[in-house]
Amino acid sequence: MQTVRLGKTELQVSRIGFGGIPIQRLAEGDAVKVVRRCLDLGVNFLDTANAYTTSEARIGKAIAGRREQVILATKTGVKDKKTALEHLELSLKQLQTDYIDLWQFHNVSTEAAYEQILGPDGAMEAAQEALQSGKIRHLGVSSHSLDLALKMVPSGYFETVQFPLNFVTDEALSELLPLARQHDVGFIAMKPLAGGLLDNAALALKWLLQFEDVLPDPGIEQAAEIEEIVRIVEGPWELSAAERQEIERIRAEVGTRFCRRCQYCLPCPQGINITLMMTVRSFIKRFAANWFQENDFSKVIETAKTCIHCGQCEDRCPYHLPIREMLAENIVYYEQMVL
Ligand code: SF4
Ligand code: SF4
Repeated sequence: MQTVRLGKTELQVSRIGFGGIPIQRLAEGDAVKVVRRCLDLGVNFLDTANAYTTSEARIGKAIAGRREQVILATKTGVKDKKTALEHLELSLKQLQTDYIDLWQFHNVSTEAAYEQILGPDGAMEAAQEALQSGKIRHLGVSSHSLDLALKMVPSGYFETVQFPLNFVTDEALSELLPLARQHDVGFIAMKPLAGGLLDNAALALKWLLQFEDVLPDPGIEQAAEIEEIVRIVEGPWELSAAERQEIERIRAEVGTRFCRRCQYCLPCPQGINITLMMTVRSFIKRFAANWFQENDFSKVIETAKTCIHCGQCEDRCPYHLPIREMLAENIVYYEQMVL
């Protein structure tokens, strides 16, 4: 497996990373096997987060005895020093290690959150202590806010930035990626497959591989997925003219009004499954009508109809989607197409 230098961390990471969200859904033994398969195939960058329930502990079990082969990245979502230090200790314990290669502040997407991190007794003090003691070796940040990422990258605090990048979510290309390069901040591509929106994983990965210093970090659930991904990475992955045309076709079809399934809009006071409702068109395209009956989808639709238009979800959506309007449109679409 080819490796790539992750910015000023100087870490040599595999050309593709492992995202630790999906292994939460597996039985523990299966999760451990998937992680080990990734290591066997040469994937050395494992990225998880304190917030991903069982993910850290499962990775910890999988890497036992192979710690030196692995570059471990994890995250804390808290902004204060005390809880951040507690999270770090928990991460170390769960990952069965005495150091984290890359510790990241998780989803810093508002000015208020960033200010709290940098303020007195903020999480940055925890990070500085942990860097000094060697419990963490490098510090990074993840974000969904382009404006804030543009501020954090040149701040000098962070050695990596993790931000969504795929061929339908490519806002990072104009300023953020060049800025990260200018400051030698390693760029980790979050949501390389657009959070499941893109059916054609090969096309999405090939598009990302053209950026030689970007580390795509797809969530992996099955050994077969990582095997396929490694085949793509080992090439040839240059896009053909037909594939470029297909990318343009998908971009035009998806437009800009689409949900990235990040779930930051939740919870809804009415219990509406916003993410599912926002992406229902892709299910309608893929499944026959009886699938919706078998899965009792009418309940999801009926709950969606109880929206009280409070707007809380829209305040939280990092992509500023008109969720209320789109929910209403998708209810009508569902009723036309499925009922
Ligand atoms: S606007 Fe509707 S969907 Fe959004 S949080 Fe309020 S009730 Fe839920
Ligand atoms: S509506 Fe917005 S916040 Fe909710 S899942 Fe979609 S992109 Fe994320």
